[in-house]
Amino acid sequence: MKRLRNLIFVLGDQLTPQISSLKFGDSRLDRVLMVESMEEATYVGHHKKKIAFIFSAMRHFAEELRETGWRVDYIDFNHLENRGGFIAQLEHAIKQCRPENLIVTEPGEWRVLQMLKQLKVTILPDDRFLCPIADFKRWAEGRKQLRMEYFYRDMRRKTGLLMAGEKPAGGVWNFDAENRRPARADLLMPRPKIYPQDDTTRAVLGLVASQFGNHFGDIEPFNYAVTRSSAEEAFENFLEFALPSFGDYQDAMLIGEPFLYHSVIAQYLNCGLLDALTVCRRVEAAYTSGRVPLNAAEGYIRQVIGWREYVRGIYWLKMPDYAEVNFFDHQQPLPDFYWSADTDMGCIRATVEQTKEYAYAHHIQRLMVTGNFAMLAGVNPQRLHEWYLSVYADAYEWVELPNTLGMSQYADGGMLASKPYAASGAYINRMSNYCESSVYDVKLRTGKQACPFNSLYWNFLNRHRDKLASNPRIGNMIRTYDKFSVSEREKIAASSAEFLAKIF
Ligand SMILES: Cc1cc2nc3c(=O)[nH]c(=O)nc-3n(C[C@H](O)[C@H](O)[C@H](O)COP(=O)(O)OP(=O)(O)OC[C@H]3O[C@@H](n4cnc5c(N)ncnc54)[C@H](O)[C@@H]3O)c2cc1C
Repeated sequence: MKRLRNLIFVLGDQLTPQISSLKFGDSRLDRVLMVESMEEATYVGHHKKKIAFIFSAMRHFAEELRETGWRVDYIDFNHLENRGGFIAQLEHAIKQCRPENLIVTEPGEWRVLQMLKQLKVTILPDDRFLCPIADFKRWAEGRKQLRMEYFYRDMRRKTGLLMAGEKPAGGVWNFDAENRRPARADLLMPRPKIYPQDDTTRAVLGLVASQFGNHFGDIEPFNYAVTRSSAEEAFENFLEFALPSFGDYQDAMLIGEPFLYHSVIAQYLNCGLLDALTVCRRVEAAYTSGRVPLNAAEGYIRQVIGWREYVRGIYWLKMPDYAEVNFFDHQQPLPDFYWSADTDMGCIRATVEQTKEYAYAHHIQRLMVTGNFAMLAGVNPQRLHEWYLSVYADAYEWVELPNTLGMSQYADGGMLASKPYAASGAYINRMSNYCESSVYDVKLRTGKQACPFNSLYWNFLNRHRDKLASNPRIGNMIRTYDKFSVSEREKIAASSAEFLAKIF
């Protein structure tokens, strides 16, 4: 039997026809292997919707490849030859088709990279990202602080996005100060487009219900786009209806409005159905044609070519040690209400409930509600990381881990963020209407009726004063705490201890 030239292994987040492994190959000579792996679906207990989304998108992608002439060995979950994990599957495939080369584009996770390195495999760079890993390492070299803002400016220059020659469009790089408006509940909210389930998706939903029924989250309603063309349409829908207000209401939160003016496309970008640079060029074109204001276009582009590329750079720069960081030495377990939503705190209830239903929460809900609470309460950052990695449809370790450990928990001691994103209930009350649905009173600092974020916030600052007092962005809050009367400080300590004893 003639030996196969290349066996190209395509992972579930590599659903891009122009990905480096497929560009390297030739559809007339080579074969593609894709596998629905039990090991990958269960190494953390992913949300049911996330598993269903990825399996359905993979099946559609395999069809897309076949239509363009590729031979695809698709090993679905119940396939008789499914070996349950990547390495066992690849060893089996190598025995069967004896390829001259095994080819793969570099995976998004350090864990998977270590796994693949056990085999004789050619690993190609993932050029869907705008900043190659080696370029980021060069950028980081010799810098004392790795601030996203400076990286972002370089990315603007490199891509030419929103540039007027050497200068940023509008004269400044960043319009964040304009992007902090609370939303009003009577505004007309856009909604992400809803996609009907086809036979492939229905089959996957049945599979997930039977095999992963004990995982977190609701499987229905399932409305995601699962093909490239529908993901592109979902993004166009965002451009037209939500992007114009994206900037203004980027940080706002409202009961019953899980999406507000966000794009809800991270799950498509991260699995390869959408391309980051194309998305940004479309946003730029919407600005230059006068359809969206600059603060919206700049704010959006910064998230994609700035934050998204930057956290990936940090991940590959700092792994594997980064996964273990715990600057504050926080050791509490994750409270049960992160899974059940059974809490009297309106903001956490709303965020966890929508997470269960949609496998989605927007950035400020992740950062300032569930992330902020966990840090104030002293939850172990690694337990929290497992939660974020499990519950969101867009969660892959390269993007989730630096966001959780670095940005939201300050567990790296300030490498990624210049100060901890710690806030009392007043911030949540300003940016949302959640407090209206809370049993607690956000105006009270201590006592049984007081919003727990308040005493926890002051208690957190006092507890970690040795690590935070010299921080120019938060040290002044410790000095404010020190001006409280002794009895007020005692009440803060007692209120937070009482609340923590109740939840742990
Ligand atoms: C604790 C925590 C965990 C997070 N985990 C993930 C994750 O697992 N996967 C993920 O894609 N994002 C993660 N983020 C970043 C951000 O919250 C999500 O990208 C965003 O909420 C996705 O919704 P959207 O598509 O509507 O984004 P939009 O608000 O519409 O933003 C547009 C796009 O910008 C990108 N983006 C925005 N902020 C960030 C950021 N901080 N880091 C990287 N990309 C960003 C995303 O690709 C997003 O789709 C996390 C943030 C925090 C604070």
